[in-house]
Amino acid sequence: MNRTPAPPAHPLPHCTIVPPHILDRLAEQGHEAARRSLALDAAHRANRLLAAPARPPAHRLTRTIADARHTETLPGRTVRREGGAPVADGSVDRAYDGLGATFALYEQVYGRESIDGAWLPLDATVHYGDHYDNAFWNGSRMVFGDGDGEIFTDFTSCLDVIGHELTHGVTQYTAGLDYQDQSGALNESLSDVFGSLVKQYALGQSSAEADWLIGAGLLAPGINGVALRSMKAPGTAYDDERLGKDPQPAHMDDYVQTASDAGGVHINSGIPNHAFYLVADALGGHAWERAGQVWYDTLTGGTLSPAADFTAFARATVAAARARWADDAVTDTVVAAWSQVGISTT
Ligand SMILES: [Zn+2]
Repeated sequence: MNRTPAPPAHPLPHCTIVPPHILDRLAEQGHEAARRSLALDAAHRANRLLAAPARPPAHRLTRTIADARHTETLPGRTVRREGGAPVADGSVDRAYDGLGATFALYEQVYGRESIDGAWLPLDATVHYGDHYDNAFWNGSRMVFGDGDGEIFTDFTSCLDVIGHELTHGVTQYTAGLDYQDQSGALNESLSDVFGSLVKQYALGQSSAEADWLIGAGLLAPGINGVALRSMKAPGTAYDDERLGKDPQPAHMDDYVQTASDAGGVHINSGIPNHAFYLVADALGGHAWERAGQVWYDTLTGGTLSPAADFTAFARATVAAARARWADDAVTDTVVAAWSQVGISTT
């Protein structure tokens, strides 16, 4: 019997991987590609996000990559389908592999059948727009710009960026965290956590070997920075005269009160990001196995309210750890990590 995938239970936040505070600053300095990218992002936010087309589930990974050929028309021309051979375009092949790596983490480690848990096909468009400085998931597909080459490189180059964006889809189908203030920062943080885990799993890295960066390799040569964010050391990813300084806090004492960026969702995510890093670092080994399992159980367990704040989320991770492991070691580690970022779970 064919079932059409259920529509997402919650509205999708329109998250672009480069947060508005970076593009705003570049646009103020007269950077033309950033200005055009911001205008496009605003237009995307104003439009209703696309629901994934209703197709009967294939019960396997199904990828389709299209090429917008530097236009703003979606989806573009299909250039690679599931099982097709690599083509002579690195952006196409990196997008194909990145969708596959994200599917692999969720399916092989957590037993999740694609983003919606019901075999949603994974589609992407590359070469979107003219030097477009961003990448996003629109509820139906991943869309990648080529970057301007001066500040940002090709957005297919970062596996964690692909995992980040697709995880917004997982959150949309599960906890549905409101994209505002602390619940919004948790939504962002979950995308960073699983984005990083997609990369670590694909590379077979231990938590000690991982770089814990989001968007490593995305900043063009000459920019003083290593990535968009650092989970290991929030606030240290870049410090550049054009980009400004990474504004992420690592502790509640430095929580940023702001009306912009939906209450600083890309800024205060540094706090739960760092808590996850501390759990993974303390437990050692592969971060997707225990730390990742606790966060995955929390995200999908059905106990979180869409308006959950950091404390509610932290308490839910403690409950998830206790539910999965009889041994107290993981639970104690989770409690200690939240305490280190200034959040009490008792
Ligand atoms: Zn995001």
